[in-house]
Amino acid sequence: MTDDPTAERKMQFLFALRSRGVTDRRVLTAMEEIDRGQFVTGHFAQHAYDDTPLPIACGQTISQPSVVAIMTQALDLQPRNKVLEIGTGSGYQAAVLSRLSRRVYTLERHRRLAAAAQKRFEALGLTNVTAMAADGSRGLPDQAPFDRILVTAAAEDPPGPLLAQLRVGGIMIVPVGQSDTVQRLIKVTRGENGFDYDELRQVRFVPLLEGLGQD
Ligand code: SAH
Repeated sequence: MTDDPTAERKMQFLFALRSRGVTDRRVLTAMEEIDRGQFVTGHFAQHAYDDTPLPIACGQTISQPSVVAIMTQALDLQPRNKVLEIGTGSGYQAAVLSRLSRRVYTLERHRRLAAAAQKRFEALGLTNVTAMAADGSRGLPDQAPFDRILVTAAAEDPPGPLLAQLRVGGIMIVPVGQSDTVQRLIKVTRGENGFDYDELRQVRFVPLLEGLGQD
């Protein structure tokens, strides 16, 4: 036991991830290193180590840690990978990805969220991750192709531009389905001759919307 209540809560946090089926040691280590408390503000900060989604600015949410871990695990990241995330939100998921890959680009339709996330990356000394304000459903053609793509907002179908920007041999994880229902988390693998689709589990995400937000 420890006298530090934060350390105690962090231990419970990692235990919760393991009990949800997160077995990849690299993912667990990355999530131990990236402090979720740095990505949640106001009075929600006291719940930073609970396995629950929390509200952030612009009416959006920071995902549930076990969902972040499961999606990261499903990506099977390799140290040399170039990764694209759609839906920066708080920047937490992108920060976790940055510990496990060479370079991360993350796109957010709310400028305010993208700017706040970029500040957090800089404050934490995470130099291989960049947040940009953009409509992520178009991807980031300038930096394509990507070894891995992670979409953290629900699309009706995997967006065509993102499929096109996935390298052969690459993996994309994307929640698919209507925003007001339970969605399916899909793993898309690009082979020499096309795409394979595997259904992983049910999830619930905010919708992938077109265009930039008001703020
Ligand atoms: N990954 C985030 C949580 C994602 S919440 C985290 O770790 O905190 C989903 C985010 O997707 C929201 O911030 C929402 O504004 C953003 N979003 C929705 N549609 C988008 C689009 N077309 N392009 C970029 N971001 C989008």
